[in-house]
Amino acid sequence: MRKRDLDLIQHNLLKMRRRLMENLQRIKEDNLQAPPRVATGDSGTSQSHMADLASDHFDRENSLQLYLYERRLLHAIDEALHRIKEGTYGICAVCSSPINLRRLMAVPNTKLCIRCQEEKERNGVISKALKSRG
Ligand SMILES: [Zn+2]
Repeated sequence: MRKRDLDLIQHNLLKMRRRLMENLQRIKEDNLQAPPRVATGDSGTSQSHMADLASDHFDRENSLQLYLYERRLLHAIDEALHRIKEGTYGICAVCSSPINLRRLMAVPNTKLCIRCQEEKERNGVISKALKSRG
């Protein structure tokens, strides 16, 4: 891979990383550290109060999913930056063939070539299908 391409990818990764860190911080402040609403023990639980609780729970659930997703992404970006440093960036982790540059530009945190990625997704779908058949 040309150094210029690698520099560009590294630049993009660092930019993504910064944005993710900000997002994670915001989600954490907005949701995870906010004290949970506790029932005050009075029996006057109205219909609207229940709806409030439900939507609150929904928001939290969504935020948590987003938080976990973004943390995984952050981890993948850190790994990619590490591979750039080691000089192994752009090599598929499964079959060791070089990953297409266009793919790296589009998904800079990937560590699989398109063939192995497709293979992985196919396997994922199959094992999920098997599980749900149960
Ligand atoms: Zn591969």
